[in-house]
Amino acid sequence: MLIVQKYGGTSVGSIERIKAVAKRVVDTKKQGNKVVVIVSAMSGETDKLIGFANQASPNPVGREMDLLLSSGERISAALTAIAINELGHKSMSFTGRQVGIITDEAHTSAKIERITGERVKKALDKGIIAVIAGFQGVTETSEVTTLGRGGSDLTAVAVAAALDADLCEIYTDVDGVYTTDPNIVPEAKKLDKISYEEMLELASLGAKVLQTRSVEFAKKYDVPVIVRSSFNNNPGTLVVKEDEDMENVAVSGIAYDKNQAKITAIAVHDRPGVAAGLFNAIANANIVVDMIVQNVSSDGKATDISFTVPKADSKKAMRITEEVVSEIGAKTVKLREDIAKVSIVGVGMRTHSGVAAKMFEVLAKHNINIMMISTSEIKISCIVDSKYTELAVRVLHDAFDLGEGKKEKGKRKVSARQ
Ligand code: ADP
Ligand code: ASP
Ligand code: MG
Repeated sequence: MLIVQKYGGTSVGSIERIKAVAKRVVDTKKQGNKVVVIVSAMSGETDKLIGFANQASPNPVGREMDLLLSSGERISAALTAIAINELGHKSMSFTGRQVGIITDEAHTSAKIERITGERVKKALDKGIIAVIAGFQGVTETSEVTTLGRGGSDLTAVAVAAALDADLCEIYTDVDGVYTTDPNIVPEAKKLDKISYEEMLELASLGAKVLQTRSVEFAKKYDVPVIVRSSFNNNPGTLVVKEDEDMENVAVSGIAYDKNQAKITAIAVHDRPGVAAGLFNAIANANIVVDMIVQNVSSDGKATDISFTVPKADSKKAMRITEEVVSEIGAKTVKLREDIAKVSIVGVGMRTHSGVAAKMFEVLAKHNINIMMISTSEIKISCIVDSKYTELAVRVLHDAFDLGEGKKEKGKRKVSARQ
């Protein structure tokens, strides 16, 4: 088999951890497999580098940021190859550029366009274990790029697709994908398997266990992904195509996201073109708007528009909104950063009714006010005061019976793929 293994920041967080990774990689090789390893920077390293850049300038240029940030993954790749060599097995480390991970030019959030992978293929043919620095690529004009936070997951899935690997293993600091973040709800239950669709929703709603774009990629190219712990040999969670028994459960997971901010333009003129004017200006600044709520005006003259943006863009979005405010006649613009998005996800929502009502009822019972709501076929999200995030996640987790030992009826069979 050809196996791609990705190790996250905690898994390569120290030399001891890197040695443990090297041992796992060598064991996989000894079982007769070809192995390609993708590594993240050591835990905390990327944040540290971002901190340095922000000390040097409040507005660092994307190109320079990418050269800086890509260095974290280079360090762990080289150290991992050194540790594997020490165990008596041939290994070579490569940068994204050396293995031909070609991206577009969007510095700090580049998209992978193609992977040539020649050097990896050659190494594998010679029995060499290839270790690739995750999170990075190169443009057609040889500029170094990075793939957005958590981007080593994407490197792993994309490399697995390009090499037509039999399996892509994502090694992290938890045993797999849980019904919610096990670090805030200890009763959270590990899922044996989860559909690409549900994983995609959970990831995009804040569950950082897999980066959103890596799941999109896995779904598009049908890459078999398994999330496992690098600290033990537990079986992990398979991310697979949806099957019939998955619809038996209405809600399969809960996610939260504290990285959102809410902007409200109060008393906006209620006439055609107002929303278009505001959101065009925001889109032109490359800011992604998530939820939008417009209150119906009772007098037909004025209305309030609220919307959410990533916290990192909130000041910029606020400035733009204030600039267009005069044109759209708003009285004031307000910014709230102490908000969180709490979401319930499940493919079974398509066939179960009353799920939204139950969510709202549970939050109301605990006096948690809902500021905004958005829904899709398989998720419901509510914006709440951020101080209630953990409480909301816990009470919803309990109300939908997601805890350990409670959900036998919803227990999923393990796919034959494992
Ligand atoms: P890595 O450094 O290995 O990429 P991350 O920190 O990016 O690891 O992702 C793993 C973390 O994701 C876990 O430690 C956990 O706190 C968080 N997480 C959030 N939601 C979930 C979930 N539903 N299942 C598992 N982990 C989750
Ligand atoms: N080191 C990068 C980050 O911290 C990429 C990754 O870990 O996947 O976001
Ligand atoms: Mg990660």
